[in-house]
Amino acid sequence: MSMIEFHDVEKYYGDFHALKDINLTIDKGEVVVIIGPSGSGKSTLLRSMNGLNTISSGKLIVNNFDLADKKTDINKIRREVGMVFQHFNLYANKTVLQNVSLAPQLVLKEDKAQSEKEAMELLKLVGLEDKAQSYPSMLSGGQEQRVAIARSLAMKPQALLFDEPTSALDPEMIGDVLDVMKKVAADDGMTMIVVTHEMGFAKEVADRLVFMADGEILEDDDTKSFFAHP
Ligand code: ADP
Ligand code: ADP
Repeated sequence: MSMIEFHDVEKYYGDFHALKDINLTIDKGEVVVIIGPSGSGKSTLLRSMNGLNTISSGKLIVNNFDLADKKTDINKIRREVGMVFQHFNLYANKTVLQNVSLAPQLVLKEDKAQSEKEAMELLKLVGLEDKAQSYPSMLSGGQEQRVAIARSLAMKPQALLFDEPTSALDPEMIGDVLDVMKKVAADDGMTMIVVTHEMGFAKEVADRLVFMADGEILEDDDTKSFFAHP
């Protein structure tokens, strides 16, 4: 079963051709890492998957919804396809527990006790249950990013997109965040698409690697074959 399908997708920013003839299918449960030089279109590709960027032409199907169809509810897609950014965008005036439990209350209409119980379980998963009552400003960047991942998971997404989740972090924080991402990837049902320069993570965790350059997909290969190249 496919989660995301690009068919002949093009993207222009004005005259600038940012995505060129993209054909890509990602199955449910797959972990795909997207690599390539800066400016090659990785972020544009990723952000189109939950409608943060529109495509110029072609067809894009996400969880069986056609993103070009005006009848598609983009908010529903964004609930089903979560995103973790380079900068974590936590609510500064909310506790960690509130950061993780508020959207399920407001959007999924979960009651407070249930959402907080689930949030505590997720904080345990990311190793931060002792920070539940802290505010984001009291956390390190790596801890903030782990909260951001817990917050995305709290929405029970079908897929999670990660846009360079470790590139704003101090080196000593990166390992903990990658460990959490490995745990998320270990959930067989979770589709994960990760833009990253962390080749160790790619080699260890990805099912597939997609290599972009200059707006094109130059390679799309299972991880083993990718690293077997001379
Ligand atoms: P990457 O993630 O691989 O660094 P991006 O997808 O961010 O690449 O950007 C690809 C190219 O598109 C870059 O040249 C960038 O400057 C350009 N670009 C990205 N967003 C916009 C935008 N909103 N308007 C115009 N050009 C953009
Ligand atoms: P990133 O850290 O993902 O590479 P950028 O610094 O490339 O982010 O882009 C930050 C924001 O500016 C994004 O929303 C992107 O779409 C937009 N952007 C990037 N390049 C351009 C550009 N050449 N013209 C206009 N907007 C751009």
